[in-house]
Amino acid sequence: MRHGNPTPPTDRRSHGWIDPQEFRGDRRFMATFTNKQQVLQQVLNVLRRRYEVPPTPQRPVLETLVYGILREGATGEQADRAFDNLQTRFFDWNEIRVSEVGEIERALEDLPGAAEKAARVIGILQAVFEREFCFSLDDIAKKGLRNAIKTLQDKFEDATDFAIAWTVQRALGGHALPLDPPSIRCLKRLALVDDVDDDVESLRASIEHLIPKSRGPLFNEGLSRLANEFCWAEEPSCGECPLRCDCPTAQSRKSESRGTRLKPR
Ligand code: SF4
Repeated sequence: MRHGNPTPPTDRRSHGWIDPQEFRGDRRFMATFTNKQQVLQQVLNVLRRRYEVPPTPQRPVLETLVYGILREGATGEQADRAFDNLQTRFFDWNEIRVSEVGEIERALEDLPGAAEKAARVIGILQAVFEREFCFSLDDIAKKGLRNAIKTLQDKFEDATDFAIAWTVQRALGGHALPLDPPSIRCLKRLALVDDVDDDVESLRASIEHLIPKSRGPLFNEGLSRLANEFCWAEEPSCGECPLRCDCPTAQSRKSESRGTRLKPR
């Protein structure tokens, strides 16, 4: 994403936004499409029942982008704490910009990927300072969503795909689904995205058109919490997971363990 095509997540041509009407007659595609939609609907129902989505804080664009950097691969609580530390332990964004990476890393405490994220935060602040001569990105929203996304993609090489999609969803009023490694792991196990595709931009594009914009925050928040509670990288806790009935991975792990138990001595 950092050097990818400057295409907004909502661009239906370049991001694979698919209208089911265009595929009328392709039975194989429609079966997949319909099945995915049904599973996603079920996933959304489970997430809505189980997790409460906190209201999105009204942050300016730059603050949302920085928060998006911190939030990738972390829980909401870890990212909130790290963001709070940045705001309380430093005088302002300029002090953070001129600090050593190690100082920022220490302020991020137990945040996953703290060292890399500290460098990215400094890189973004440096880029915004050189471009705007101040610490605000609110003006990029004035020329429309597509232009804003293109600017973030082209001019801020430390902004990840996740952080830009987070900013689109939380501060720019567009539709995007920020996907981090825990969420992608969960979606692959649910067979909702291509298991062998590791390009986050194409994975995101393959699912964005199936989730309504109004459900984006619920989808991201809920999936992130579910991944943290149950869908661990090693030995996911499928038996306790509320999605186990709709998850092919859970079903195949169950059959494997039955097969192991039934093996003759
Ligand atoms: S059932 Fe297991 S593999 Fe499937 S989403 Fe839940 S924890 Fe992950």
